[in-house]
Amino acid sequence: MDFDTIAAISTPTGEGAIAIVRISGDKALSIADAFYKGKHSLKDVDTHTIHYGHLVDPQTEEPVEEVMVSVLHAPKTFTKEDVVEINCHGGLVSVNKVLDLVLSHGARIAEPGEFTKRAFLNGRIDLSQAEGVMDLIRAKTDRAMNAALKQVDGRLSDKVRRLRQKLLETVANVEVNIDYPEYDAESVTLERLRAHAKEVRAEINELLATAKQGKILREGLATAIIGRPNVGKSSLMNSLVHENKAIVTDVPGTTRDVLEEYVNVRGVPLRLIDTAGIRETEDIVEKIGVERSHQVLKEADLVLLVINSAERLTDEDEALFQAIEGLNAVVILNKTDLDQKVDAGRVKELAQERPVITASLLKDEGIEELEQVISKLFFEEGVETADLSYISNARHIGLLNQAKQSIDEALAAAEMAVPVDMVQIDITRAWEQLGEIVGENVHDSLIDQLFSQFCLGK
Ligand code: GDP
Ligand code: ZN
Repeated sequence: MDFDTIAAISTPTGEGAIAIVRISGDKALSIADAFYKGKHSLKDVDTHTIHYGHLVDPQTEEPVEEVMVSVLHAPKTFTKEDVVEINCHGGLVSVNKVLDLVLSHGARIAEPGEFTKRAFLNGRIDLSQAEGVMDLIRAKTDRAMNAALKQVDGRLSDKVRRLRQKLLETVANVEVNIDYPEYDAESVTLERLRAHAKEVRAEINELLATAKQGKILREGLATAIIGRPNVGKSSLMNSLVHENKAIVTDVPGTTRDVLEEYVNVRGVPLRLIDTAGIRETEDIVEKIGVERSHQVLKEADLVLLVINSAERLTDEDEALFQAIEGLNAVVILNKTDLDQKVDAGRVKELAQERPVITASLLKDEGIEELEQVISKLFFEEGVETADLSYISNARHIGLLNQAKQSIDEALAAAEMAVPVDMVQIDITRAWEQLGEIVGENVHDSLIDQLFSQFCLGK
């Protein structure tokens, strides 16, 4: 395909030590060479090599930047085009100066996600892999990162392709039957079709079963810390934040505030919701309590209910237990270092099947156990086996569900002994729906929309 040459800053904005300006396209080498001065012309060097030199202002002939330049010839590059990466000092002024030089020599500024889009359009990666790149950029924990890596790696694509192949063979069988009706094998064909369709459905179900974890890895587990005033909510939040690496992400434009709301608990990204409520309302705590909790609970995937074990249970505590009916929750009996007044038996009863953890947040006790419980709640043993890739993308989940439904319809039709070519229609639809996951039969506008969600420079 024929594309113009694009460029962008491909490292996060801010004061990093090094920044990279990436150029991709036919003119990448000649553009960079126009203002690069080093031992060799960039046009003469081998592919996949890196070179020290200076960028020279063409007007003044003065060296303006000290750089390392990577030269990567097509097609073995991320975009399958010629790529030049200029590594320069990380300051905003310096990197923008380099980008200006590149743009004034004929490159166009890349749209968000355009490098990845080219990799897709040039056939280097398929759509689900491109989406994996996007997830990788946004990954909030190592586990999320691994899941995204597997997707980039093409594991989901491979699986989807195998399923499609199986459906295709099923349809081909039916074709034989239609073309040679005298070859009276209708019942054999139907039998085989049913068997294949059931196998594919089972595999789709397996993929869908990973969706819940996938979504959590991708978006973080919306976690609400609730409890009466003074039971230790803020202390719990602080322990969680301080004991665990704050999650780092290189998504430009993400504010510190947002970052701090994520904590990585043994691979489970917790998105602590309404932390502002916990932090800022210390003085007006009396007003909030149960009322605020109801609001927060609406969006929570996980509730951490804190109870003060040094006091008797109050009506408000009981009301909070009622408020978390049906929700994923862990009960934290805090302040075990003080004289115990709580009726622990009653707490167990109110907690029903949910874990109850005793803790003294003041003495840093109980947090370990809490983390263990959280991680177990979401990665039950066996789930995280070697090559499982989590389905996390809403588009993929939707398409898998549609394909499953088409297969269900095919199977229902097969049961009713309708003509076999009717069954074929449903199977073919399932085949198309799976195809959309890897980017076949996908409308251009969807592709534009998907890639526009990327950040600049990727
Ligand atoms: P919140 O109002 O629920 O957010 O409660 P805070 O976290 O602000 O804690 C209220 C008070 O209880 C503070 O003075 C804490 O230092 C204290 N506190 C928290 N956890 C414990 C604990 O385990 N033991 C004791 N003795 N005090 C604690
Ligand atoms: Zn507090």
